[in-house]
Amino acid sequence: MTHPAQPKASHFINGAYVEDTSGTAIPVIYAATGEQIASVHAATPAIVEQALASGKAAQQAWAAMTGMERGRILRRAADIMRDRNHDLSVLETYDTGKPLQETLVADATSGADALEYFGGLAASLTGEHIQLGEDWVYTIREALGLCVGIGAWNYPTQIACWKGAPALACGNTMVFKPSEATPLCALQVAEILHEAGLPAGVFNVVQGLGDVGAALVTDPRVNKVSLTGSAPTGKKVYAAAAAGMKHVTMELGGKSPLIIFDDADIDNAVGGAINGNFYSSGQVCSNGTRVFVQKGIKEKFLARLAERVGAAVIGDPLDEATSFGPMVNEAQMNIVLGYIEKGKSEGARLICGGARCDMPGWYLQPTVFADVTDEMTIAREEIFGPVMSVLEFDSEDEVVARANATEFGLSAGVFTKDFARAHRVIGQLEAGSCFINSYNDAPVEAPFGGVKASGVGRENSKEALKHFSQVKSVYVRMGDVEAAF
Ligand code: NDP
Repeated sequence: MTHPAQPKASHFINGAYVEDTSGTAIPVIYAATGEQIASVHAATPAIVEQALASGKAAQQAWAAMTGMERGRILRRAADIMRDRNHDLSVLETYDTGKPLQETLVADATSGADALEYFGGLAASLTGEHIQLGEDWVYTIREALGLCVGIGAWNYPTQIACWKGAPALACGNTMVFKPSEATPLCALQVAEILHEAGLPAGVFNVVQGLGDVGAALVTDPRVNKVSLTGSAPTGKKVYAAAAAGMKHVTMELGGKSPLIIFDDADIDNAVGGAINGNFYSSGQVCSNGTRVFVQKGIKEKFLARLAERVGAAVIGDPLDEATSFGPMVNEAQMNIVLGYIEKGKSEGARLICGGARCDMPGWYLQPTVFADVTDEMTIAREEIFGPVMSVLEFDSEDEVVARANATEFGLSAGVFTKDFARAHRVIGQLEAGSCFINSYNDAPVEAPFGGVKASGVGRENSKEALKHFSQVKSVYVRMGDVEAAF
């Protein structure tokens, strides 16, 4: 019998599901069992061409609709997505292995928020009037054209919506390529958008690996590339886009600091560290994986942390009682196991976890290392798994310098009851998305993105509209033209 996760076809192009079985088969493995539950095919060059051609053909008519008309379709899609939240959450769990307890509140709901928010803003895009004596200039905020979205595997529904919603609100069309590790959810996003009335060709989904992504990025018809992925892939994609002078948004990895001062509420700080390291089994780009704890409270913090981590319910992700699921796939599990071994061999003190769980699927124990130093591999490299490094510090100046001593700059957090200190420290941290007495909140109303090697551009908020549009300025002369000859 066909598994309920099996999609109708591999791709969604020009308003319909499309199949081409001559593309390389991509098995969909359920991370909780290691069993294959579905299969799709990578896009062949003919499928890539079909998707780009339909995105290009649909763009002008889509941009010519009023913002109100475009927005109404996005908001209708948001309603459908909310109505189907349970089924979409189950699919997200099959795609990623994340527990239903999380997917019910963080994935289709967050995608619906983006569709509703940008749907609401679509009619608000305006230019300016600039008076110059009797002459004047007006500006028009225009769509960029055909955009490519490329996703990572940790939030397949959310990433498709975070890219698709602002792009479409501005009058662009999109070809979206999900990660080959999680090909299922973006197809549902496309189907729902079309059910809501989206014209054919405005949002297309094609499957494939990096080569399909590269074919999309280098096509001359494409005007913008928005990637969520690792920093090494980001550098490659940015370079390829630059060769065609395309616009980019790069949402890349991080090694973010979470700083806990000795006056912090310990339970809130522990809660922040748990949210910033173990949600989605640690597969979150903005995670605060370097937890700097001030000397005076370190042991108390570690004891409370170990106690609460011990309460994680590890098991069947479809059981709503489960609070900690498997890694997305075997390869990622092995990468993280390699980092855990590095932590042990480089002398970090294992507080809890540190091994694979003795059960089917790609489960790792939530792992905490203490006595981590800045030079250790686990303190320098993005692990993208449930491994928290706790580092000790003495003074504010010292911790700010150490927190910034990384190539990355996605997020940063501070826990303290001293708000003057909180703002002072956050002001000095080199990071794009920051938190005070909290960690990893990502409402659509707030800009999201990094500095340094963590990327360029911002997703969400009104900022995203700037990254999916451009300004045309028009000088209007009211009098005669003066010329030198
Ligand atoms: P990768 O960088 O491996 O891949 C990202 C996407 O790019 C995938 O769809 C991949 O295809 C595709 N790709 C790979 N090579 C190319 C290429 N040359 N041209 C075009 N596309 C290409 O990232 P992961 O999927 O492993 O995701 C994890 C990473 O994503 C982490 O570093 C994490 O920090 C980051 N991330 C960042 C977020 C942010 O908003 N800042 C949010 C979530 C994750 P395929 O994998 O199918 O081969």
